[in-house]
Amino acid sequence: MKSIRSRAPAASTPAVRRAMQAVHTAHTTPEILLRSSLFKLGLRYRVHTRPEPSLPIKADLVFRSRKLTIFVDGCFWHGCPRHFRIPKVNAAWWEEKIADNVRRDKRNISLLKARGWNVVRIWEHDISPTRLPKILERVVTQTVPKPSIRPHKRYRIE
Ligand SMILES: [Zn+2]
Repeated sequence: MKSIRSRAPAASTPAVRRAMQAVHTAHTTPEILLRSSLFKLGLRYRVHTRPEPSLPIKADLVFRSRKLTIFVDGCFWHGCPRHFRIPKVNAAWWEEKIADNVRRDKRNISLLKARGWNVVRIWEHDISPTRLPKILERVVTQTVPKPSIRPHKRYRIE
């Protein structure tokens, strides 16, 4: 039996296509705002890349040396409890699609955490000029190198 996924309604009408493009566009802006703010703070990161090449997981921002990943989750695609509404057309397909995404997000995050990554998830609706400083503070705190618990041998006083 064919998966429900293969009946993607992607281009059912030009209006739907335009709406989906608008969704994509709208969801890009908060991430760009976050990225440029972090860059201005002197933080350097990789964008839309795998934290570990062997894992099939892409994060929006990756700070490899700090073992930190940031996911900026779009309200629609990641099923934001506050803003996600199932589209009326092809509702069953969308419901399954978004539920899949939510399950995959959970899986990916626990996999990354199990491998020692710090994971920060940010809803795109939280990235606004007024809330941005708090988010930046959170990210900056996560990128501060942790002091090593054991002193380095060279400096140990015997
Ligand atoms: Zn939202």
